[in-house]
Order: sequence, then structure tokens, then C-alpha cells
Amino acid sequence: MKNIAILGSTGSIGLNSLSIIKNYPSHFRAYALVSNKNYRLLFQQIIEFRPKFVYIHNPKSLNKLNKLLNTIEHNTKILSYNDGIDSIISKKNIDIVIAGIVGSAGLRWVISSIKYNKKILLANKETLVMAGPFINMLLKKSKAKLLPVDSEHNSIFQLTNKLNSQQIKNINDVLLTGSGGPFRKKSLSYIKLATPTQAVNHPIWKMGAKISVDSATLMNKCLELIEAHNIFNFPFEKYKVLIQPEGVIHGIVNMKDGSSFAHMYNADMKIPISNVLFYPNYNSYMSSNINFSKLKQINFEEPRHNIFPSIKLAHEVLKQGMSAQIALNASNEIAVASFLDKKIKFLDIFKFIQSSL
Ligand code: NDP
Repeated sequence: MKNIAILGSTGSIGLNSLSIIKNYPSHFRAYALVSNKNYRLLFQQIIEFRPKFVYIHNPKSLNKLNKLLNTIEHNTKILSYNDGIDSIISKKNIDIVIAGIVGSAGLRWVISSIKYNKKILLANKETLVMAGPFINMLLKKSKAKLLPVDSEHNSIFQLTNKLNSQQIKNINDVLLTGSGGPFRKKSLSYIKLATPTQAVNHPIWKMGAKISVDSATLMNKCLELIEAHNIFNFPFEKYKVLIQPEGVIHGIVNMKDGSSFAHMYNADMKIPISNVLFYPNYNSYMSSNINFSKLKQINFEEPRHNIFPSIKLAHEVLKQGMSAQIALNASNEIAVASFLDKKIKFLDIFKFIQSSL
């Protein structure tokens, strides 16, 4: 039985993780849950999963959660900002940490998880964009293990794990695929006037608002290129981005002998999450395979770099170094929040990032 801390239990990654845990009660237990504002959902999760510990970040939500908890019998200890992040992560009984907090708020939790030698399932890509080399340095000194949840990185992880050292040396390039987001086929004039509702309406994945906007701007691919660079040991030039609109191929490894390995599944985050949850054991999560005869065709196209400068930005900041990567991550986060608050227009996100850099 593995005890799990779910950081961001009320978010998309958190809910997918809890749904796996629910189906494997003899393998996994939701030992600690962490969230920010959504005290109602957290309350429901406390009733359903009976965690030992809960941390809620927002002080107003903490008060409201405590009021609700006064109405039921429970044994969950409620912790908050004043108790500190270590008050949860330091618990010896926690075996696995699922890092599913969105944005830069996730960084300190990952650092704490490394400090306490946990197995970390990393969804929070912003951590590696802001602090990849620092995180890797901490990992070297610790017994912690960091495994990628992000679908593309998880696919590359699974594909390269199946190759021997000679094959690894003979990899030509690594393709990170993306569906292209909701504006893949839209005209520039449409994109200029895009609303938050249109931007978060992802054609394939159901995700939180921030990553959905990142997918619409293709900044998600920019963050993922930097993430990949910090997870795997290939030179940066080997990573390419390819749009695969049906969202069934999640990563491709091209070999020098002309062959390619592709990792395919129906878009369901429970598949990569369960892969790393069970790792290094066989992933016994059951899901349906792609129905290839129904799918009929798989398309590929290049990103529209003239409208979305995101991939170029990844190359630029990686050349410039850590300060540029931190500035990129922070300015993107602020710009996306401002766009969602209707304070700036969709394409202003790029202007804001570029002027910050
Ligand atoms: P959501 O917006 O759905 O969820 C974010 C979670 O983080 C919520 O539980 C939220 O709590 C919590 N949270 C936010 N700020 C804090 C804080 N300061 N302290 C504690 N908890 C906090 O995001 P997603 O689940 O979509 O994404 C999470 C991360 O995973 C992102 O980095 C994203 O890029 C990455 N990712 C997501 C994928 C997906 O399919 N969703 C796929 C691949 C990567 P509350 O709701 O209570 O406010």
C-alpha cells in the first residue's frame, strides 16, 4: 500500500489521480490532499477519501472549510499556510507526491518533496521551466525520484525506457506532439478577438484554465520544450514540436536507421498518471485502446510560427539562460491571468512576454 499526497487535489490532474486511487484501494491511499480555494470540493474529498492530512492555502477558504468540517465527524488534520509546506511533505508515511498544483506556486512543494526523498509524479511543468537546473542539482543529492506526468514527456520516458543504450545513442530527434489547441485553424482576425471562453475550450483535453490558455497560445509547447530539456539528456536541437490534431500520438522518437517509435493512446491523462503511479511495476490500469478503424486517419502539420511565436521563444530563453526562463514563466503566468480576467487581449500575451524578456 502506497500513501499518496495529492498537490492540487481539486484540479484536473488531482481529480484524475483520485479517480485512479479510488479504483485501486489495495494499492494506493489518498493520505494528504492540498488545494487553494475550492473548499467545497475539498470537503467532499475529505468525506470520500478520509485523508490523514489536508492543507488549504487560501485563508478565507480555510475558515469556510473548518465551518463545514464542524458539521461532521472526521479524523483529518487541517493544515494551512502558517504550518508550512514541510508540515505535510515531511510525513514519513507519504511515499508518493503528485505535483499537480498549477503555476509557480508548485515550485516550493516540489523542493520540499525532494528534501524528504519522495517519489514525485511531476505534472507542474512550470517548476522545471523556472528552476530546472536547480531541481536537477537537488535531485542528485537526494534519494527522491522525479517522474514525468505530462503526456508528451511521459511518452518519451516510456519509449526511451524500452530502448537499449546503443539505440539511445542512435536517436535522431524527439518529437513532442500537440493537438494545436482551439485556434489551430482560425484566422488571425478571429484570434485577435478571441475570448477566454473560446481559449479554454480545448478540442481534445479537459484541463485547468491556465494550461488550456497555454495550449491555445502554444506556450504549452514552449514550456514543454524547456521541461523536456530538463528531464532528458538530449541536446536541445533534438527536440521538435509537431501538431497532431487528433491527439492520439503523444510522443515520437526518430531513429538514425530511418525507423520511428510512436506512443499512442486515447487522450486520457489517467493513462500517463497511472504509468508513473505504478512505476517501476507494470501499470495495471485498464483503459480502452484507440479504435483505429473508427479513427481512419492521423494528420500532422507544422505549428503556425507566424501567429504563435511560442516555439521560437523556447529556443531564445534556453540560449539566454535561467533568468530569461524565469521571466518567461512569470510573465506568461501573469499575462494568462490578465487575459482570463479580460484585462488584456489574447495576442497581448505574447507582447507582454516579449517586453518582459
Ligand atoms: P487546475 O487549474 O485544474 O488545478 C490546479 C490545482 O492547483 C487546484 O487544485 C488548485 O486549488 C491548486 N492550487 C493552485 N494554487 C495553489 C496554491 N498556492 N497552493 C495550493 N494549491 C494550489 O490545473 P491542472 O490540473 O489542469 O494543471 C495542474 C498542473 O499540471 C499545471 O502545471 C499543468 O500545466 C500541468 N498539467 C496538466 C495537465 C492536465 O491534463 N490538466 C496535463 C499536463 C500537465 P483550488 O482549485 O482549490 O483553487
